[in-house]
Amino acid sequence: MTDTGEELRDETVDLLQHLIRNACVNEGTESSGGESRNAEYLVSYLEGSGADIKCFESVPGRASVVARLDGTDPAAPSLLYLGHTDVVPVNPEMWRRDPFGGELVDDEVWGRGAVDMLNLTAAMAVGFRRLATSGFRPRGNLIYVGVADEEALGTYGAGWLVDNAREAVQADYVITESGGIPIETAAGTRLPVMVAEKGCHWCRLTVHGTAGHASAPLRTDNALVTAAEVVRRIAEFEPPAVIGDAWRRLIDGLALPEEIGRDLVDPERIGAILEVMPDLGFARLAHASTHTTISPTIAHGGTKTNVIPDSVVLELDIRVLPGQAGDEIIAMLEEILGDLRERVDITTVVDERASESALDTPLWDLLSKVSTRYHEGAATIPILAVGATDARFFRKIGATAYGYGMFSKRMEFANYLSMFHGADERVDTESLGLSASLFETTAREFLG
Ligand SMILES: [Zn+2]
Repeated sequence: MTDTGEELRDETVDLLQHLIRNACVNEGTESSGGESRNAEYLVSYLEGSGADIKCFESVPGRASVVARLDGTDPAAPSLLYLGHTDVVPVNPEMWRRDPFGGELVDDEVWGRGAVDMLNLTAAMAVGFRRLATSGFRPRGNLIYVGVADEEALGTYGAGWLVDNAREAVQADYVITESGGIPIETAAGTRLPVMVAEKGCHWCRLTVHGTAGHASAPLRTDNALVTAAEVVRRIAEFEPPAVIGDAWRRLIDGLALPEEIGRDLVDPERIGAILEVMPDLGFARLAHASTHTTISPTIAHGGTKTNVIPDSVVLELDIRVLPGQAGDEIIAMLEEILGDLRERVDITTVVDERASESALDTPLWDLLSKVSTRYHEGAATIPILAVGATDARFFRKIGATAYGYGMFSKRMEFANYLSMFHGADERVDTESLGLSASLFETTAREFLG
């Protein structure tokens, strides 16, 4: 067993409490976030460790911090720890404790960001600082980055750094959120590593009709009625299942009962089994991991109760699988619309492809090896993130990026998922110590 160390744990708890209390709430607007508060705190924490530390301010108040231990061998692979310092808004009425109090209760730290992802941002900083102060000289560069704006589109954080300060953040390997929640299976403990994430295709459908008096609706062309049919067709549409390599390896690793495991990797049968699976959380994850998903989320239309509307706007959140391009999504929408196609304009708002990293890499092997020190006999399994993370920016510039951390058995997978952007977000202190130790150990062995 690696010595997880009370000191590492306590230091991470303290740092996490400060990051939570700074309440860097990202509402998706340019002026929200205020991540400079967390960046400054991280600078003060890392100062004096021997690392080179720099802040990059994309817009006022939204700084990201970059700390580096430059390597001794320019040819050696480099490693970057990527944490975000912002959090999503809260509805305090749904919480049992102050979401920005950072309270420590029964060995758990409470607050917005305790699992997404100030916990890892803190643990990465603690691991990094420990290495720096111990006089560790990496062969390849070791870089710690705390970015703003992950919870919106990364425009003022990771995206900005990659575009404007690339030399400071270019690395061969990146570790960010999320993963490392122990899952107990018939074959032992499994630790998911996020290796890929779906892309986003957000679009707007403008459904056209003809205005008229609402008191005489016979044979009128009501855009709202057409839009309702469009939404119904979208809801009814069943895209084909796509069984990717990571999904196959994940199911294999979970050692499920044979029949269920077999159906979950069979594109012809997976739909039927997900319809009846009692574990709704897993069913949704399984469905989103193997299908393009389309969620109609916003409808705007109509002007007055007595006017038949001539246009209705629908917004769709479409998440695309690795390998799918925007024109395939448009073709899918055209198939769904069928004979209504000519009454609908399709406008693409966001078109981001999925991104993925290879599994047969030295970092994957090292993470797998190191992990058994925290959970005896544990094996790593790949997982596809169905949402988006900042890993995508780094994959685009050639990095292998994984999402990983290390959690205790107190953290249950279903519980963990429900706390993402949910109420009563909290993390146990043992998990914080394990993650800090993981980041220290991984860099020491990967770059040593
Ligand atoms: Zn996050």
